[in-house]
Amino acid sequence: MPAQSMEDLVALCKRRGFVFQASEIYGGIQGVYDYGPLGVELKNNLKNAWWRSMVYERDDVEGLDSAILTNPRVLHYSGHEETFADPLVDCRQCKSRWRADHLDDGACPRCGSSDITEPRPFNLMFKTNLGPVEDDSSFAYLRPETAQSVFTNFKNVLDSTSARLPFGIAQIGKAFRNEITPRNFIFRVREFEQMELEFFVEPGTDEDWHERWVEDRLDWWRQQGINGNNLKLLHVPEDELAHYSKATVDVMYQFPHGLEELEGIANRTDFDLGSHTKNQRDLDIDATVLANDESNARLAVQDQADRRWSVPYVIEPSAGVDRGVLAVLNEAYRVDRLANGTERTLLSLPAHLAPIKAAVIPLKRNHQGLVDRARGIKTELMRLGLGRIVFENTGNIGKGYRRHDEVGTPLCITVDFETLEDESVTVRDRDTMAQERVATTSLANYLRERIA
Ligand code: ATP
Repeated sequence: MPAQSMEDLVALCKRRGFVFQASEIYGGIQGVYDYGPLGVELKNNLKNAWWRSMVYERDDVEGLDSAILTNPRVLHYSGHEETFADPLVDCRQCKSRWRADHLDDGACPRCGSSDITEPRPFNLMFKTNLGPVEDDSSFAYLRPETAQSVFTNFKNVLDSTSARLPFGIAQIGKAFRNEITPRNFIFRVREFEQMELEFFVEPGTDEDWHERWVEDRLDWWRQQGINGNNLKLLHVPEDELAHYSKATVDVMYQFPHGLEELEGIANRTDFDLGSHTKNQRDLDIDATVLANDESNARLAVQDQADRRWSVPYVIEPSAGVDRGVLAVLNEAYRVDRLANGTERTLLSLPAHLAPIKAAVIPLKRNHQGLVDRARGIKTELMRLGLGRIVFENTGNIGKGYRRHDEVGTPLCITVDFETLEDESVTVRDRDTMAQERVATTSLANYLRERIA
């Protein structure tokens, strides 16, 4: 059974150290969260799974890790200064501010008044000052998407690798948006992470690639433990498309608060590379939107045969890490009623996402023989490189099992007095609660099969 409510997830996240309110001891900061000891592991595992499927398992994608601070010219020519805005309205009654398309029936969500101003555009980009002098010429933007620096590095990547069309550049990193009404826990925040691929293709092949990427991305989310029935595709209506998009398909997920966007897969055409390219007159293309006299780059590829330059099209699967974490937690959360009438909460996470892969627990706390053997087993298992293996000297096995159920640890390994005699341990499975005796010599293979 998926989580009953967002409150269940928020409570679990706080209790077990997945997600905390940022700056909490000073009353927090709206729309900003911190990831705790287990949250950072889960988040890293999700990002690693994405990186692995995008970069390591393919030979046509390269990685990038670019700066957050962005020259305003980049976001001028990308069209973000002009158009990256949400419609803002004020409630004249209680003076609160809202995103116009988030109002139910046009009424103020706080006081219910219908006395609402006309919507006006509110730009979502954060500005910050560079250097000690605060004036209009020395500011930078915090990037609102990771994509733009992929475009501005297009030529660097092309020149420094053997990439040829079709190929992609993948990036994971922070993005910032001054959301009018951040809400729903880590779903809509002001500081978040994106996993974005810009996949460059020959014009004319873009629509086929777009379809292929939509299928690939759906498959990938299913591999992260998301039930296909909770995923839907939304073909964004033409009048709602972002300024750069010819077509966008959103992967929607049934979050606890409703069906909402988890990932957007856009056909950005040649809009961005074209917009950042100088000397567009030399290029035999007609889709470049803004005339650019400031860039010094030609973000295009040259045909080897006829030497003509052309600007590739780009397909962009853009997923939110935080929304991904929320979806994965929501899918994994279960409350089981046990035969003895009690309940247990568990996170039935896929093993590759679990923050802790296995816990090694000596039966008796501080018993030298048991503790030494358990530590030894932890060290041996760590060498497998599967992720975090913890040694836990708490002595309360039942409590340990319950805690590890709740944080999604697939296996608990108990070291008891028999272990000292016959080198076998008890391995307990999170989902079935079944326990079996495994020889320590087989433990590495056992774990590799279950976790890898
Ligand atoms: P929305 O319509 O929900 O505001 P968007 O269409 O503006 O989202 P995109 O610009 O397509 O979002 O960004 C790509 C992805 O980045 C989204 O699918 C989402 O997962 C993530 N994302 C965007 N804005 C936020 C946010 N404020 N908080 C958390 N994740 C976000």
